Amino acid sequence: MTTYTEFYRRSIDEPDDFWAEQASLIDWEKPFERVRDYGSPPFTRWFVGGLTNLCHNAIDRHLANRADQTALIWVSTETGQEETYSFGDLHAEVQTMAAIILSLGVKRGDRVLIYMPMIPQAVFAMLACARIGAVHSVVFGGFASSSLASRIEDARPTLIISADAGCRAGKVIPYKPLLDEALELVSTRPAKVLIVDRGLAPTPMRAHRDESYISLRQEFLGATVACEWLESSSPSYTLYTSGTTGNPKAVQRDTGGYSVALAASMKHIFCGSPGETFFTTSDIGWVVGHSYIVYGPLIAGMATLLYEGLPTRPDPGIWWRLVEKYKVTTMFSSPTAIRVMKQHENESLFEADLSSLRSLYLAGEPLDVPTGKWINGALRKPIIDNYWQTESGWPILALANGVESADSKFGSPGLPMYGFSVRLIDDQTGEEITVANRKGILIIDGPLPPGCIQTIANDDERFVKTYWSKVRGRYVYSTFDWGVRDEDGYYFILGRADDVINVAGHRLGTREIEETISGHPNVAEVAVVGVADPLKGQVAVAFITVKDRSAVAASEGASTQKHEILKLVELRLGAIARPARVLFVPALPKTRSGKLLRRAIQAIYEGREPGNITTIEDPSVLGAIAESVIPT
Ligand code: ATP
Ligand code: MG
Repeated sequence: MTTYTEFYRRSIDEPDDFWAEQASLIDWEKPFERVRDYGSPPFTRWFVGGLTNLCHNAIDRHLANRADQTALIWVSTETGQEETYSFGDLHAEVQTMAAIILSLGVKRGDRVLIYMPMIPQAVFAMLACARIGAVHSVVFGGFASSSLASRIEDARPTLIISADAGCRAGKVIPYKPLLDEALELVSTRPAKVLIVDRGLAPTPMRAHRDESYISLRQEFLGATVACEWLESSSPSYTLYTSGTTGNPKAVQRDTGGYSVALAASMKHIFCGSPGETFFTTSDIGWVVGHSYIVYGPLIAGMATLLYEGLPTRPDPGIWWRLVEKYKVTTMFSSPTAIRVMKQHENESLFEADLSSLRSLYLAGEPLDVPTGKWINGALRKPIIDNYWQTESGWPILALANGVESADSKFGSPGLPMYGFSVRLIDDQTGEEITVANRKGILIIDGPLPPGCIQTIANDDERFVKTYWSKVRGRYVYSTFDWGVRDEDGYYFILGRADDVINVAGHRLGTREIEETISGHPNVAEVAVVGVADPLKGQVAVAFITVKDRSAVAASEGASTQKHEILKLVELRLGAIARPARVLFVPALPKTRSGKLLRRAIQAIYEGREPGNITTIEDPSVLGAIAESVIPT
């Protein structure tokens, strides 16, 4: 058995041999001629000359052995529907969808924008695009018309696929009017719009432009559409980053490298086997949804569970009951979702039989230690925090338990994954940090491994300028995250590089302060931001939502809790890290993907306009933030 150290070392020192081996995890119509081409850095081409297809690897290649095995399970607690599709069924539905898309004039290389709720047809549409070599661009279904319009403008799709409506907390949200509105705002419009009518909302159709999926499906039922064999570096999709920094970027990904990266991650990181069930609670509008709702589990021959609904409806035990019902072996969620669950803790929360579940993976935001320990104690299963980005497509830091099992450390997303040459550099001097426990910016030496961002769509220059810098003649990729490595090589993410606070010359990550504050028993969530201070340069201000509002309702209670919180920070991090103010607020502003918008809070505190944050979940919470910062 190889150790992880040896496995990792080979991936860095002998990348060609290493990745050639991993490439055998997928099917190639024509073998590649070269493992990689790094001739014009930082651009990288993987598996040059090889022909393959994502949809073939996700569906067709499983038909011989498991056509009748479950591939897709759809559960909607919004509409009360549950459906199951075998690999054979999925094959048929995807071909029908592919035939429809082709009939609407889409050709290989064209862009198809998908603006859909979490329904099976969204998955069919993604796979159908991959099948015919069209480049999909999924836009999160929760975005309103202006966010949608800017993405349509940027992607210039030949076709848009949407639905009559989504549903959230039992409320129907009509999509079609939002889409029509967005189409009014853009300068170039697609010739065709395909609408999946779920029967939830009235859907006026525009003649010659709007087409009905239901009637076209009848027409193309039983169609056969062969997979287009694509050169490995042909783009498979573009996807916008979450927009936490207020600046979404259209990440473009390849075909062959992504297929290999996902197949390898399913084996080495997620330890999934054919016939098992994978449940990712994200949305298809995010990278986690692309990689681990749709493509990854299917490539591994697993069933994937697609869930439409809230984690708390009909009650917070719903996800665990689905684990029991569908014998989920691997689950992937986010710290935000777990924190929501923790707020609803009661005896019946974990009543379901969770014996099928092996581990829970969490990503997207820092997993604070109290939340990590809570869920670990409740499930008594390994909790695997993993760190990555839309840009990387799969985990940069995690544990490769499929290679050699390692213990999780609370607060840490683990070790560098194979292929990622991760280092820390001093943000002031640019020097590499080689000693343990010293903070720096997390960077990755180029080239990036397979599966990562190829470029920013239609903007190679922005790609190079945004992410890459040259250090001693070599290209390095910046993650813009700030971290530290311990003696055992485990990394800890301390926050975004621009969330670092400089208090009287001391550099502190907001994450460290947040982590400490979240240890207080009444703290539900906390955001710490650095704000300008005439004396110290910057000071930290903590915005907190509490579990028990009554404890801070009266000014006396509030000041006792503030005192306790400040004491905690002082004991753990020292007086320098003590927030200058602690403010209790009803809610914190978050992106639609559940990430804290620290920048918006900072802007409000400093009296600046938070700007047009189109990615925000609920703009009304900004008002309460503005009120809370008025000095009392
Ligand atoms: P944008 O780039 O548009 O501002 P974003 O960075 O939030 O948005 P994503 O690609 O969805 O877009 O998020 C990646 C970021 O999320 C990482 O760079 C990191 O800051 C954070 N992150 C993800 N997973 C973890 C984790 N396990 N621990 C700590 N932070 C994480
Ligand atoms: Mg980012």
